[in-house]
Amino acid sequence: MNRKIDIEALCAEKGLRITEQRRVIARVLSDAEDHPDVELLHERASTIDPGISIATVYRTVRLFEDAGILERHDFGDGRARYEAAAETHHDHLIDVETGNVIEFTDPELEELQRKIAEKLGFRLVDHRLELYGVSNARAK
Ligand SMILES: [Zn+2]
Repeated sequence: MNRKIDIEALCAEKGLRITEQRRVIARVLSDAEDHPDVELLHERASTIDPGISIATVYRTVRLFEDAGILERHDFGDGRARYEAAAETHHDHLIDVETGNVIEFTDPELEELQRKIAEKLGFRLVDHRLELYGVSNARAK
């Protein structure tokens, strides 16, 4: 949702050594408007630098994830997908027929979750929510 996060700048902030290949992968991730998996990231990175291996992409996303720069999602198809760890929180609705992912936020939902945690004796610090649906717009 909060697009155009400068992943390269975040790497510098976190003290990660940035190689040329990591820079390319960081740029592909910064430019992503979707939630790409490693294969798709590799495909995009390869158009910029054909020398980048899928193993390098795997290692790099793992590194970025461990540094808190990337968030990993599993939208139910068993593939890990990535997006920049957003400064503003959002949740996801997954269209189970097309695999499309819609981002949303709902203040009432946020408040409800906070209340549930409080009732259970917790202060909420984070949550993840994935809704899975079938579009009403598509006639069956
Ligand atoms: Zn998202």
